[in-house]
Amino acid sequence: MSGMNRAENRARLERESFDVLVIGGGATGAGVALDAASRGLSVALVERDDFASGTSSRSTKLVHGGVRYLDAAVMQRDRAQFHLVREALAERAILLDIAPHLVHPLRTVVPAYTLRQAIFYRVGLWLYDRAAGAAAIGRSHFLSRAQMLASFPRLKQRGLKGGVAYYDGQFDDARMALAVLATAARESALVVNRVEVVALREAGGRLAGAYVRDRLDGRSFNVHARAVVNATGPGSDAMRRMEHPEATPLLEPSRGTHLALDRAWVPKGDGLLIPKTPDGRVLFLLPWQGGALAGTTDVATAPSFDPEPTDAEIDYLLAQLGEWLQPAPDRAAVCASWAGLRPLIAEAATRTANIVREHHIEVGPKGLVTIAGGKWTTYRRMAEETVDRLVETAGLNAHSACRTRELRLVGAEGFDEHLPQALATRHHLDADIADHLAHAYGGLAEQLLEEAGAAGMRRLAADHPYIEAEVCWAQRHEMAITAEDVLARRMRLAFLDARAATEARPRVQAMLAGCG
Ligand SMILES: Cc1cc2nc3c(=O)[nH]c(=O)nc-3n(C[C@H](O)[C@H](O)[C@H](O)COP(=O)(O)OP(=O)(O)OC[C@H]3O[C@@H](n4cnc5c(N)ncnc54)[C@H](O)[C@@H]3O)c2cc1C
Repeated sequence: MSGMNRAENRARLERESFDVLVIGGGATGAGVALDAASRGLSVALVERDDFASGTSSRSTKLVHGGVRYLDAAVMQRDRAQFHLVREALAERAILLDIAPHLVHPLRTVVPAYTLRQAIFYRVGLWLYDRAAGAAAIGRSHFLSRAQMLASFPRLKQRGLKGGVAYYDGQFDDARMALAVLATAARESALVVNRVEVVALREAGGRLAGAYVRDRLDGRSFNVHARAVVNATGPGSDAMRRMEHPEATPLLEPSRGTHLALDRAWVPKGDGLLIPKTPDGRVLFLLPWQGGALAGTTDVATAPSFDPEPTDAEIDYLLAQLGEWLQPAPDRAAVCASWAGLRPLIAEAATRTANIVREHHIEVGPKGLVTIAGGKWTTYRRMAEETVDRLVETAGLNAHSACRTRELRLVGAEGFDEHLPQALATRHHLDADIADHLAHAYGGLAEQLLEEAGAAGMRRLAADHPYIEAEVCWAQRHEMAITAEDVLARRMRLAFLDARAATEARPRVQAMLAGCG
């Protein structure tokens, strides 16, 4: 893939100067890099670790308006909340259009144990449909008790009256970030992982780039840029303090943990929304990439680069699932777990569950543009607003207005619903492998298979669709460096099945050493 060669990009980063330096290679930074590059600005993006290794690979994988914000909008008659939901639903439609290989509609069901609950959920989800308007992807509807049990045979049956089904989007978050970055690179942005900003540079009281360290070879050097964007997610306050040591904190990070379970917990491919936990949250149990994921928690915490789930959070999630499912899943059912930090904007709220996930754009005293908060679903919109602001405050000469509404992401061309079948037939693939390749790589799946030849068709782990061909592809075209980059983010085995990922690691390491 053009523009995705690390050695070349790293050398150019040191040599060239740029209109914009974006710090952070998660959803937000990737979106800003794409938006700015597609307006004709020269852009460099640096990421201290692997792309999407922060919050952006650790989400619930929903492209959504947020049904729980709608609940707040209705109960508190809060028009701002309703507006947020509507805006995110409009973005959902755009993402389905620009990345059809990575985003798909998901039917999710909400169980009702009283008639009152059934009517309440039905009205709420009807409003959700209304909020989507022309961007709706399916109409919500009542389900009988038998239909609910057909979707979730393990739901507790006593008192179950039926439920309501609604539609949202689901995606592969880490691969989406890679697709946005690859598209930015196609639009001439220079993207480099394993390069950390250790200080900001200034000239005449204004920022003029950053001092960075290559975490692979240990070398430090200056990156020259006319404007700098802080898109470091939970790290935003640390970066703001590099510009202004007295900066008051913007964020109140909150940790969210997920569990990966066996697919048997979501047998029909529908998602389950548990509408209320005792601490006022909603909980999801969703099918995802051949497994099931359950989450999430909400624990106020300090920023860190590698948050881990605590035992208490795992027990909490299992206990909550046990309130609705019979038999309840136990520790033995957990195939993997992970935690991510929500970069929530601090407000007077005392509990993080009450904070509206709205983004915040700030221009610092020396011109640092910080973009924080929001959600994955709204990354494109956040980027659009950030680059508008950047152009205005830094006096940059953009060639056009925002183009990302129509700019299809790498992989979208050549993808349609028939691609899995076509790949299976042409390359004699098992259906699950063909399906995975079509959705992970879209129109590039064909090139991946041709490059690898027949030798690459072996599975990396039994019962999972990931194949050896993807390992060298990840290194050559997606800047993967370690086995973890491959197993956790280029493919998602580490998120779905920790044991299978550990077993596959030596093989992946050996392959990475020999890709050439
Ligand atoms: C548990 C959980 C569930 C969620 N579920 C959903 C969902 O279902 N749908 C949805 O729309 N949203 C969801 N979100 C929100 C969404 O995931 C985040 O809003 C989004 O991923 C934030 O992206 P980001 O790029 O701002 O941050 P990050 O992904 O954390 O990216 C910031 C990057 O900056 C890098 N960085 C930091 N410091 C430096 C430095 N000095 N130099 C270079 N790089 C640096 C980090 O390594 C990191 O990769 C969820 C969030 C959580 C935590």
